[in-house]
Amino acid sequence: MKAAGSNVDEERRLAVLREYQLLDTPPEALYDSFTRLAAEIAGTPIALVSLIDRDRQWFKSRVGLEATSTPRDQAFCAHAIAETEPFVVQDAVNDTRFAGNPLVTGDPNIRFYAGYPLRSPEGFGLGTLCVIDREPRELTMEQHRALRQLSYALRAVLDDRRDMLQIFDAAYNELFSYDPGEKTFIFASRGALTMLGYTMAELRSLPLEAVFTDLSGTRYEIAMRTLRDDRPFVGECLARRKDGELVPVELHAGINRSGGRERIFIVAVNVSERHAAQEQLDLLLSAINVAGDSIVVYEVVEGELRLAYANFAFYQQTGYDRSDIMGKPLNWFRRGMPDDPGMMAVRNAITTGTAAKTEVCSYRKDGRSFWNQVTLQPIRSTQGEVRHWISVERDVTDAVERESNLEDQNARLVALGRAARELIGALSATALTARFKQSVKDLTGATARIASLAAELPPDPLLVRAAAENATVKDGDTRMALPAGNGFIAEIRSQRPLRDADRLVIELLVQYYAVASRNASLVGEIEDQRNAVLELNQIKTDLIAMLAHDFKGPLTNILGYADLTAEMGDLNDHQQEYLESIKRAALRLADLATDTLSLSRLERNEIEIAHDEVDLVNLLRDVVVANDRRKIDLEIEGDAIVRGDLRRLRQVFYNLVENAIKYSPEGQPVTVRVSVGSTHARIQVIDRGIGIPAAEVARVFDRFSRAANARRLRIPGTGFGLFLAHQIVEMHGGTIAVESVEGEGSTFSVTLPVSGAGHLTRPLRVAVIEGKNESRSFITHALREAGLRTRVHQSVQGLTESGIFETDRIVLDSDALSLDEEAGKALVDFAQHHDAKIVVVGSDPPELGGRVVALKKPYLMRDLVAAVQTGSVTRPGAA
Ligand code: ADP
Repeated sequence: MKAAGSNVDEERRLAVLREYQLLDTPPEALYDSFTRLAAEIAGTPIALVSLIDRDRQWFKSRVGLEATSTPRDQAFCAHAIAETEPFVVQDAVNDTRFAGNPLVTGDPNIRFYAGYPLRSPEGFGLGTLCVIDREPRELTMEQHRALRQLSYALRAVLDDRRDMLQIFDAAYNELFSYDPGEKTFIFASRGALTMLGYTMAELRSLPLEAVFTDLSGTRYEIAMRTLRDDRPFVGECLARRKDGELVPVELHAGINRSGGRERIFIVAVNVSERHAAQEQLDLLLSAINVAGDSIVVYEVVEGELRLAYANFAFYQQTGYDRSDIMGKPLNWFRRGMPDDPGMMAVRNAITTGTAAKTEVCSYRKDGRSFWNQVTLQPIRSTQGEVRHWISVERDVTDAVERESNLEDQNARLVALGRAARELIGALSATALTARFKQSVKDLTGATARIASLAAELPPDPLLVRAAAENATVKDGDTRMALPAGNGFIAEIRSQRPLRDADRLVIELLVQYYAVASRNASLVGEIEDQRNAVLELNQIKTDLIAMLAHDFKGPLTNILGYADLTAEMGDLNDHQQEYLESIKRAALRLADLATDTLSLSRLERNEIEIAHDEVDLVNLLRDVVVANDRRKIDLEIEGDAIVRGDLRRLRQVFYNLVENAIKYSPEGQPVTVRVSVGSTHARIQVIDRGIGIPAAEVARVFDRFSRAANARRLRIPGTGFGLFLAHQIVEMHGGTIAVESVEGEGSTFSVTLPVSGAGHLTRPLRVAVIEGKNESRSFITHALREAGLRTRVHQSVQGLTESGIFETDRIVLDSDALSLDEEAGKALVDFAQHHDAKIVVVGSDPPELGGRVVALKKPYLMRDLVAAVQTGSVTRPGAA
């Protein structure tokens, strides 16, 4: 016997053979039909489908032979597969290769053999389709051709089988074929074997339910019924591995009934991973659902984000139902303001496809708002395309409020303080409203409006309610109305919900507004009143000035004509007395007019200070003498000349002395003390009167200021005197002050700078002999007006006896004082002694020697003053 092929080839041949998975498989009708047909064609008792294994030949199908295999070295077929042509032995007994073969010498006593090789497509001989007879014989050409055709057909069947198996294996899926008749597995793919841990041979020995544990009994019946109805069977069951482990599989089964035999093809998909994944997914889902944060998945549909999934927390947080929100676009959910930084971050993330974490203001289904921390993350497909967005959202309202409360509190308090100051400071209604709106905007971002209900047509019900209830009324959390005083209502609108802190700030601002608007209207009223008063005052001042000015002319006339009338003689004592009264009253009026004029000038800022040399002592004496109602002690400690305005200074001291008398009880003395220093003279007016309450001392020099005790005692006064005094003293470069104890008395002190030339040039000292108790004649008045130091005497004797005073001029009215010779001589002597000139006025002035300057009545007062000043008649014609 001859061995066939090299070892390498043989190994490859065997491997290919195994790929057909035919060896040791049960007989199959398909193959049996080939052997039966071959035996019939050849007319032989034996036909076989023989496969050559490594050491044996094995028969897949056989007709007329009991043995299932024979050793390879005896096999005729082993020779046949080495040939390309059919291998025919007509009589084995005569063939040296086979004559001694046990199959020839013994059972089955082969004499004739014709083997048609079965080759794989790559050319390996697998075995043969062969016919055998126990008699020597020959095949006809037809038989031969037919057998050859048959072997080709068989080859095609084998190749199909191998292809199918290869497909099975290549699929690496868990594929089975099962014979329900025989109740055995026919095939199993490599994947199936791997999954179960069996070899093919082991699997074939197992019943179906040993592998698919729960595919037995009723379930098996149902499955079979389904399959036999030509419907696929799909079901899950547990596959038991060789090691006993159970693997979940999903079975997809179909039936094949070709060749009269039922074959069931099963695809068993190992779903343990899928199960694990599902389990994990379920776990994840339940985790997502129990999560406290909202988790939302949006799907990108035509460039728009549409809600595809939301967890339980989301429904809870927003109050929506599943049906409300599925498929809704992202911007369907009301969120934030258009210029909200959070929303800008979200939009930016979506357009750029990047993740974002931000805070936005969101709204529940019921419209209530809350602060949401949103973490938005794009989910990319394997192609890098963003198909989904996942958004994890957390309600951080509390935190936001707390945080912003803390953060804002300080800044807000500061801003609130500033706003309050500005509001209270805004004194016009327009400025106030503008300020208020701006403050609300700055502090809360809301828009404010101040509305008057009367002007609103039709009135907004919210405003009406706020007015009716006189309380803050809210409309949701973005609008509110608050009463703002004076019938005004503040209306606040906000794009984002107002927080408690905002409301508090707004309420405070509205209160400030109310107070400030009250202030503003009060200020307006006061301003109006003040303007009216000022206007009146101006009118008054002008009027007074005019009156005072126009008064003086007629007064001079009254005085002049009173004098003339007196000189006309023939007046009895009564008439004379009335005339004197008229003159006195006229002189008072003249004084009053002068003061009034200066007051009004002061008020009009028109006051001017003359720069005459004023003899302080003379001035004070004059003031003291003028007050005949009270005993006044004049204490003179030095003589002084002050440069200034005589009439105004007299006004000052007159007022001080008047006050001292007015504010002290009858009988209490008043002291006027003059002391002169090197630079200043000090004049004190001291009384023991009611004094001034300590708290009001500082204010007595204010205009129209009157102390409470003076008012209480109803002592008449205007509160203007000291104000004027203060002005005048200051205009002279001096000071005025008061020391006072209530109930004990007051000391007013005036200091005035002493004129440098004061001690050198002194004013003319004029003695006026008035006669008839005339204390303040028109002449004295006129001379004092002119700044002359005058003393008044009742008679020549009064003058000569006064002694101590220096005298430069002696003025007398010869009509009022008839001089006898003795008096005339005493006068002239006195004049000579004092080197004084005598100025006489009268209808017929007497001749009194060279020292006399005479003025004939009627004369002009200015001529008299000039005569006194010069000691001569400058304009004799005037006399
Ligand atoms: P009048 O005396 O007209 O009220 P004045 O300006 O002269 O106005 O004085 C202002 C106020 O000062 C007085 O109303 C009075 O309350 C107080 N006062 C002035 N002098 C005295 C004083 N000698 N004793 C007490 N109070 C005085």
